[in-house]
Amino acid sequence: MEQIEQLNQICTRYGCPLLLDEPLCSYTTFRIGGKCKALVEADYTDMIIDVIRFCNENNIRWTVLGNGSNVLVSDEGFDGVVILLGKKYSRVVYCPNNQLYFQAGALLMTAAKTALEQSFTGMECLAGIPGTIGGALYMNAGAYGSEMADVVVSADYIDEDGCLKTVSAEDMELSYRHSMFSGTKRVITGVRLQLREGSYDEIKEKMDECLRQRRAKQPLELPSAGSTFKRPAGSYASMLIDQCGLKGASVGDAQVSIKHAGFVVNTGKATCRDVMELCDYVIETVKEKTGYRLELEPVVLK
Ligand SMILES: Cc1cc2nc3c(=O)[nH]c(=O)nc-3n(C[C@H](O)[C@H](O)[C@H](O)COP(=O)(O)OP(=O)(O)OC[C@H]3O[C@@H](n4cnc5c(N)ncnc54)[C@H](O)[C@@H]3O)c2cc1C
Repeated sequence: MEQIEQLNQICTRYGCPLLLDEPLCSYTTFRIGGKCKALVEADYTDMIIDVIRFCNENNIRWTVLGNGSNVLVSDEGFDGVVILLGKKYSRVVYCPNNQLYFQAGALLMTAAKTALEQSFTGMECLAGIPGTIGGALYMNAGAYGSEMADVVVSADYIDEDGCLKTVSAEDMELSYRHSMFSGTKRVITGVRLQLREGSYDEIKEKMDECLRQRRAKQPLELPSAGSTFKRPAGSYASMLIDQCGLKGASVGDAQVSIKHAGFVVNTGKATCRDVMELCDYVIETVKEKTGYRLELEPVVLK
């Protein structure tokens, strides 16, 4: 109780709200998950540092959340503090040499539109990924042949001890859906992108085409966390799942999308348990019938 009061004081100092027993389903695109002990919406880097240090000193579990589009939260929720990168934590800095710097909470769509306004090319295919730029760098998000690794130059982050650092792209260990941030407690605070000058009309056309393809192929009308399985080396998860006749397979309200076999969707009141059971079934079936071992892509928060 005393700790909550102290945490509240930190939040009040920055004018940011502290929410207790907040249902995390409201903060994830899957619309699944129990409550967290406390949720702080952080608009400032110093505030994130203060909260991390406070939690570390008091042995309180914490995690950071961007747009919640790549997480599956357990039905029991998260017994700790969730640091949500607030909407205001998304400022852009226009830098020389066709570079743009975004605070980590900026949405990829916003970053792509900002690049378009400047007639900068490089972000078109990433525009439709519904995450923040911090969340995208965390897992080197990508689509239609582009990935964060193609455009990032450097990033600022808070390390495990609450110290602010900068790392250049070559030291980020960027590979397929992986970076030096994956699976760690480092918090990305800002990302610098290197873009190239291009033609406004061509950039816009490419961006619109990528968005059109998404709308046509992905079940965007239902809650999900996007592709549920990573691409196995030498094949495609959605193709394997489809081949095994698993489209439409369901557990409770969790269903392998009929539109796109790579997506597990929430058709109503799916629980985390439903999704996990369905994913286990998909993984087992695909292994048995094709020999490929699928792995979950979303981060499971419990
Ligand atoms: C409809 C749909 C389509 C999608 N399409 C794609 C796609 O084409 N390609 C693709 O790669 N992904 C796709 N995704 C998945 C998702 O949008 C991306 O992984 C995105 O980058 C996640 O960003 P986020 O801000 O939502 O992260 P969150 O879901 O909030 O967090 C995911 C993980 O990143 C960590 N994290 C978030 N922000 C930070 C930060 N600032 N610092 C450190 N760690 C952080 C969290 O702790 C968590 O572990 C899709 C998802 C949906 C729902």
